[in-house]
Amino acid sequence: MNSRTPFALKGDIVHTPSFAEFTYYEDAYLVCQDARVAGIYRELPGRYRDIPVADHTGSLIIPGMCDMHLHAPQYPFRGLGQNIEKPDWDSWFDQYAFPEEKRYEDLDYAGRAYARLVGDLLQSTTTRACIFATIHRPATEHLMELLHAAGLCAYVGKVNMDRNSAPGLLETTEETLAETRLWLARTAGKYSDVKPILTPRYTPSCTNGAMEGLSSLMDEFRVPVQTHLSEGPDEIAWVRELMPDIRFYGQAYDRYGMMGTRQPALMAHCVFSTPEETEMLCRPNVMIAHCPDANLNYSGTAAPVLRYIRKGARVGLGSDVSGGRTLNLLRIVSEAITASKIHWAYCERTGVPGEKRDVLTLANAFYLATKGGGAFWGDTGSFETGYAFDAVVLDDTRFSDGNPRSVYERIERVISLGDERETKEKYVNGSCVYRRKSG
Ligand code: FE
Repeated sequence: MNSRTPFALKGDIVHTPSFAEFTYYEDAYLVCQDARVAGIYRELPGRYRDIPVADHTGSLIIPGMCDMHLHAPQYPFRGLGQNIEKPDWDSWFDQYAFPEEKRYEDLDYAGRAYARLVGDLLQSTTTRACIFATIHRPATEHLMELLHAAGLCAYVGKVNMDRNSAPGLLETTEETLAETRLWLARTAGKYSDVKPILTPRYTPSCTNGAMEGLSSLMDEFRVPVQTHLSEGPDEIAWVRELMPDIRFYGQAYDRYGMMGTRQPALMAHCVFSTPEETEMLCRPNVMIAHCPDANLNYSGTAAPVLRYIRKGARVGLGSDVSGGRTLNLLRIVSEAITASKIHWAYCERTGVPGEKRDVLTLANAFYLATKGGGAFWGDTGSFETGYAFDAVVLDDTRFSDGNPRSVYERIERVISLGDERETKEKYVNGSCVYRRKSG
């Protein structure tokens, strides 16, 4: 089966066309035509009577998940550095992030490390990702090639850093702009599924000169931008020091057209955004990559995503590997719910007495991981007719307990406890990119 020939997957279909609730179709057919969802049917209509059917009766079929914030070069040290005794941010960068990222100057090392990451991504529920690479152009291009060969959809960024970096990871302003231009020229039209995204690491690591140059490149090549915003109080104070004329961090990007005014913008974290910054985040061309696992670990708190959503912001979920511990977005969905409960409990205890309980439901968090992040690619992350056919078949028999369980209970349990062992098949744009070996 390929993306052109119509085919169907049969199983228990679950998605969230709306933020509020799941929609289920037990023992139904999900039809793919021309890489898009053609419909969900209890019985196949006559025109589809003879199409191939992959029979996954008894398995769950969910939309592919979108990891909206992932540092590819940090994958080798995942799970490490989460409990550094000296509690400052620099020690994590100095001990883990920067030494590892330096290694990607060596294309052989980069090739091996990125191949492991892409192999693991293939088995996960992730079908699309927005990825930070390193400052190194050749390794970044190699990562794009690997993702394309694997059939995954991604935006990948060559990182820019021309100040406040580590030796070996510091570019001059001229270098960072010249290499970014060359990288964009080589990759902007190369693949239909893997595209470049401008990636100034964050304000402290990019001079005004670099940001000005990147702003021009963003428009010249018409590429979106991704970066970090308001992740921690120390970082915000540092940005204020570096740019004393701004009122809030978001202005440091907005003045270069990087807050959705000219091209789409993806802002990771947004834990401590002020009311003015929140308004900026609600612009239609901005998306927040909410990274609950990383936020709970780093700052012991969580972004108030429900507040942002209720004000109209678009939100997706990110693993933030390896500030976050895992690529497994099922777990990140779980963490998003936990984080929202922690945030609510904190607000209730410190805020107005009797404040209403307002936490992410299972359906809300599932929506963020699928249709929420998927909106960065347009109609993606749902099984509504016309949406990109990104689907993951999950075999949840590992959790069978001898009792009849509703589809809701099964999806709840697979989100709480599932991982790559549950991935049976995975489709991106109608093409099967992964099939579990039987036996
Ligand atoms: Fe990050």
